[in-house]
Amino acid sequence: MRIVALAGGIGGARFLRGLKEAVAPGDEITVVGNTGDDIHLYGLKVCPDLDTLMYTLGGGIHEEQGWGRADETWSIKAEMKEYGVGPEWFGLGDRDFATHLVRSQMLTAGYSLSQVTEALCVRWQPGVRLLPMSDDRVETHVRITEDGTPKVVHFQEYWVRLHAAVDAEAIVPVGADTAKPAPGVLEAIAAADVILLPPSNPVVSIGTILAVPGIREALVAASAPVVGLSPIVGGAPVRGMADKVLAAVGVESSAAAVAAHYGSELLDGWLVDAADAGSVAAVEEAGIRCRAVPLLMTDVAATAEMARAALALAEEVRA
Ligand code: GDP
Ligand code: CA
Repeated sequence: MRIVALAGGIGGARFLRGLKEAVAPGDEITVVGNTGDDIHLYGLKVCPDLDTLMYTLGGGIHEEQGWGRADETWSIKAEMKEYGVGPEWFGLGDRDFATHLVRSQMLTAGYSLSQVTEALCVRWQPGVRLLPMSDDRVETHVRITEDGTPKVVHFQEYWVRLHAAVDAEAIVPVGADTAKPAPGVLEAIAAADVILLPPSNPVVSIGTILAVPGIREALVAASAPVVGLSPIVGGAPVRGMADKVLAAVGVESSAAAVAAHYGSELLDGWLVDAADAGSVAAVEEAGIRCRAVPLLMTDVAATAEMARAALALAEEVRA
């Protein structure tokens, strides 16, 4: 079986770890990763979501934090601070720096981001084929008002420096409109037997991937069923700021509203948490097959159960 999943960082990576447990030997998983969170710092290209996927699936992640390397040290950051060079709010550890150095060196030498990602995965062996959504530069920006001043900040600044404490007024994936899907992305979607949308952020992770012209269209045209899992449980994100960015695009923070936001053209099936069983009927009325199952990724076994439920729902809508 060929499975394609679109994914952001932590939510996507944790789900994929469960999916790897749930699939049969020989099944192939292709992951299309969000690169709208990418940021250039100190002349280096940092790809937070691709790295979270790679480190989580490759066994190098800082488990509690959910991002960055295990057993990290912070000498470079301390030295930068002595020079007064920021941004202080963004944490890049020493081990993590090596990834960004290798990536940036290869990009400077003329390799594409897909080629670089493949090269980094030779070390990490994530057990999936990891593709960036695009080799072209896309950067998610957020319009906010800070201390009475309207401004636009990079998504990382909104999330990491501001902790999403101010309202997001608009989300703009800068560059997405002219970006091309990375080599292999459309082909993988067309050849897939099942397409999954993990419980990643519907706006700044999955939404950004869908904003690359051709990707949403390929999912709609695909013969494979598309099944998603809600990142919203009991009316709130399990973790992070999905409520803030959903509000910015006029979508209520509920499992049913996120399904409607993706739409019945895109989604064939949708899993909501058992706590949201009351919304199953509304989702089905909107033309999307829906089931309520436990959706908390408390450990790999529980996450594998979620993945099995998603694969079962895909079989059900295919029938
Ligand atoms: P990010 O790029 O690191 O923000 O990660 P993603 O976009 O892949 O995932 C973020 C989303 O994962 C958030 O909206 C969370 O609500 C969701 N999430 C995190 N943990 C869980 C969980 O255990 N269950 C569910 N259903 N969603 C989760
Ligand atoms: Ca992200």
